[in-house]
Formats: sequence, C-alpha cells, structure tokens
Amino acid sequence: MHFAFNGTFILDDMHNHVPHAFTVPAGAQQLTIHLDFEPKGPEGAEVPHEISLSLFDPVTGRGARHNNADQTIVITADSASPGYTPGPLQPGTWTVFIDTHRIMPPGDIRYTLDVDIAMDAPEFQRPQFTPGSTAARGPGWYRGDLHGHTLHSDGRWDVAEFVADARRRGLDFVFLTDHNTVSSVPEVRSYASDALLTLGGIELTTFYGHCLALGAQRWHEWRVRDGHTMTAIAREVLDAGAFYVIAHPTSIGYPRCSGCPWHYEEMMPGIAPAVEVWNGDWAGESQNEQAVQLYYQWLNQGHQLVATAGSDIHGPLSAAERPGYNVVYAADLSEAAILDALRAGHLYVSSGPKLAFSATSPRGETAMMGDVLVADRADLHARWEASDPAYAVRLVAGGVVVDSFTGGAHGEKTWQVTRDTMPAWYTVEIRAADGQLHALTNPIFLQGS
Ligand SMILES: [Zn+2]
Ligand SMILES: [Zn+2]
Repeated sequence: MHFAFNGTFILDDMHNHVPHAFTVPAGAQQLTIHLDFEPKGPEGAEVPHEISLSLFDPVTGRGARHNNADQTIVITADSASPGYTPGPLQPGTWTVFIDTHRIMPPGDIRYTLDVDIAMDAPEFQRPQFTPGSTAARGPGWYRGDLHGHTLHSDGRWDVAEFVADARRRGLDFVFLTDHNTVSSVPEVRSYASDALLTLGGIELTTFYGHCLALGAQRWHEWRVRDGHTMTAIAREVLDAGAFYVIAHPTSIGYPRCSGCPWHYEEMMPGIAPAVEVWNGDWAGESQNEQAVQLYYQWLNQGHQLVATAGSDIHGPLSAAERPGYNVVYAADLSEAAILDALRAGHLYVSSGPKLAFSATSPRGETAMMGDVLVADRADLHARWEASDPAYAVRLVAGGVVVDSFTGGAHGEKTWQVTRDTMPAWYTVEIRAADGQLHALTNPIFLQGS
C-alpha cells in the first residue's frame, strides 16, 4: 500500500506543522516513510533549510528525528529508525507532520513524501535494553550535565559514544535530551553504572523557544498549537514528575538558530522552576551573559528560580569550547535525589572552580544555595577552591555586584548582610579579568521573619 504526497513551501510556510494523513489497515507489519526536498538550502546561504518529520499513530506521538540529514522512517512492532519508537502499528489514521523549523529566503522548496505500508515484515529483533544500576553513595556533591543530543535527533554520535564521552569528562551523572523524542531514553538508561548515572529526558523544541523535561519517561506533546500553550506544556512536564528548564533563552535566533531564543511572553518565566543560564560554550552563540542578566531580572521580580548549565553537546567538544557543569548537592547519586536537588536549587554551575556558599542567621539557622533563610540579618559564607589565582570573586545582591576582589586559587570570606539595606537574594560569581564567568552559585534568599 502506497501513499504519495508532494507540495511546495514558500518563506511564509516557516514555523508550521503541515499534516499528511494516511490509513494503516489492520495487520500492517512495517511502515516506511521518506521525505525528500529540494533544494536543501539556497545557494551560498550560511545555513540550510531545517525541515523535520514527526509521526503520530492514532493515539500518541511516535517521535521525530529533528534536523537530521536522514529523514527516512522505518517502523515495525519491534524496531524503529533513530528518533522513533517501535511498537504495534495500530490500524487507523496516522499523521506524519512536516515541521518547517527554518526556511531560508526565498523559500520555494519542492518536497515529496512517500508512505509505504507492508503487510509482511522481515523478522526484527527488538534491541533489549535493561536499565543499568548505580550503587548508592549517600549525600554528597555530584557533577553532571543536563543537556545533550545523539543521532536520535541532530547529534553526530550514537548513544554509546555519548555515554563514553560523559565518562571521559569524569561526570557523575548525565541526562540525554534529544529533540522532541524519548526514543534514546531506554538505551541511555541501560548504560548506568556505579561510575556514571545515565538519565533520560527530552528537549521540547518549538518554533519560539526550547525547554528541557529532565527525567521524562514518556513522549510529551511539544507543539504549541490549537490552545496547547507553553504554560500547558510546562504543567504537563511538571505533573509527570519531570523537571522543567527553559533552555538557552537568549540564544541568537533566525537564521543561525531558528526557534532557539525564548519568546513565550506568559512564561517569562511564568511557572518555569528553572532556567539554563549557561548553555554550551560560555562565549558561544547562546549569549550566556545575557541569560545570566535575564535570570537576575527574574529573581528581582520575585521568582525563586533555579539556575542550571548544560553542555548541549552534539558530538566531541572542541578544545575551544568551555561549557559549564552542574555541581549538585544531593542526598544520593540516584535519579530521584538528583531531581530533588535540582528542584531545591542545591547546585552551582562551573567550568572548573569549586564553590561553597551558605548563610547563618543570628539564631543559628543555616541555609545553603537555593534555600530561603527566614532572618533580617545573616552571615553569608563563601569558600572556593581550584580557581585561577587571578580570577575575581564577586558577591552579587539583587543583581548588583556589592563586593569584588581577587580570590586566589582558594580562599574564603564572610559578609554580614541585613535585609533592610540589601536586596533579598545573593549569589557568588567567579569571573576572569575579561569578565567571563567561570562559576556561579544558586541564590540564597533572605525572607523577613
Ligand atoms: Zn535547544
Ligand atoms: Zn539542545
């Protein structure tokens, strides 16, 4: 059984989900879908068109392979192309959407979309992925990455290579977050070991901003359409027990990175509990300094928001890149404990220096980064190690730098602060002489007693 579609896209068709519906009969064994479009991009343009497929059976989403050169889907009960989930081919109406993430001028793209349904399929062996296990280590500081991609979307390596690289980077935990699919999650979880906790998630990649659903166990409807708002998406992710992070909000946009900057007015930050202030290379196209300043603005508006980092790794890092990592204080090296620590803001982001930051009230109550201390006065205490002797240590209060000094390779300092003379949240930054950030704590919040 064969269905053939074709059409054209002009520039105005950018940021659309274009449906192509077909009927799968009972007893179908294999589905093959192939998209071809020409040209791949205008001659001489710095970036090509970015057009992906996403597939829906009669009930739910079956994945996507975002921005990959290979836009052929083969799917059976027991196997599927990277980006898509295997499973029974339910009879009924299926829809393959062409998602027009980026169209470069002048547009004028001609495409063909072919669907073949076979009633007898070759025997496939479904890859069996058994979740790996990580031995308990108890409370401690754990270093991890919250953001990365593989061949299941636009990454340049497979899941095993992604995990091997995380081991090489000496991480304690890593989340794999392919775009708009969870097809890579069973495999990444199968590689968990005592040395490395491997976790899954999804990067919900819309036309007007990206967000992470860390710990997501199932596919989430990522498309903002027909009244399905970004707030609704965030609510669904949080209700499912995953952690929601606005990703690279101030990234450069079209045409370099179509859909990357955050444009959701109702989610500035709305119900988002966290924002990725350091995405990829510190000095890269994510414009991380702007993200830190946006984060500070949101804190000043009264949001108790968590700051995170993510390498957004798509393949081996180049020597020039300087991504930030998350150093998380968790009750254990387990998925539940890491997610709890992220929700609590018990972490700092860093490309090297180690940072501790705590507060003590006159009554002797203490708080760590991410916490609220109910007190009008407090002693703030910072300690740093493995820093560069020339780097500056800065105390930031309400977004204003209130102390800055050369910190040395290691050191510590205590500040006495009162709520009536200073804003109610504090972070510690470590920065080089050129201003580049090397480490940043989550805030300590002071609240009136
Ligand atoms: Zn992204
Ligand atoms: Zn990403």
